[in-house]
Amino acid sequence: MVDISKRRFFTRNQMDESTIRLPWLAEPERFIDLCTRCGKCAGNCETKIITKGDGGFPTVDFGVDECTFCYRCAEACPEPLFLSKEEKPWDAKATINGSCLANNNVECRSCGDTCDTMAITFKLEIGKVAQPNIDIDECTGCGACVSVCPTSSINVSNLQINGR
Ligand code: SF4
Ligand code: SF4
Ligand code: SF4
Repeated sequence: MVDISKRRFFTRNQMDESTIRLPWLAEPERFIDLCTRCGKCAGNCETKIITKGDGGFPTVDFGVDECTFCYRCAEACPEPLFLSKEEKPWDAKATINGSCLANNNVECRSCGDTCDTMAITFKLEIGKVAQPNIDIDECTGCGACVSVCPTSSINVSNLQINGR
């Protein structure tokens, strides 16, 4: 027999504040208490990026695809978990780590090619191939750049930037 209260306690303590769960969550810190794990958000996700995370709670996986901000997850959810569509969906931003091909002097611009908001630009540097730079103000955290990166060098998380 699974002790739900214990599992919830465990999962809550395992939650990293930088983890992206779902867009438009009203109270991310209370998500585990209020979500019933019914799976309706996942079943209605336009790009099928909502998977079962720790404890069976839904979480987006940008390794599958991007979030199109269609709002279907929020519409399908029977619980009062989501903000209205007019609100900002999340504070998620993309970051690139040192395993990036361009960082290692191998030509690659896949992430920039897929970024709709053109948040990723490439700058030529002496003695190097063009280097990617993410404009965090333009990045929507959609995750489109994640699955196209051949070296899994991009992470999308809730960055805490100057209190934002
Ligand atoms: S907004 Fe749409 S694409 Fe994004 S997680 Fe929700 S259902 Fe999926
Ligand atoms: S797709 Fe990945 S490897 Fe290519 S430039 Fe972007 S971060 Fe670097
Ligand atoms: S998460 Fe989306 S908006 Fe941000 S850099 Fe990647 S593709 Fe562009």
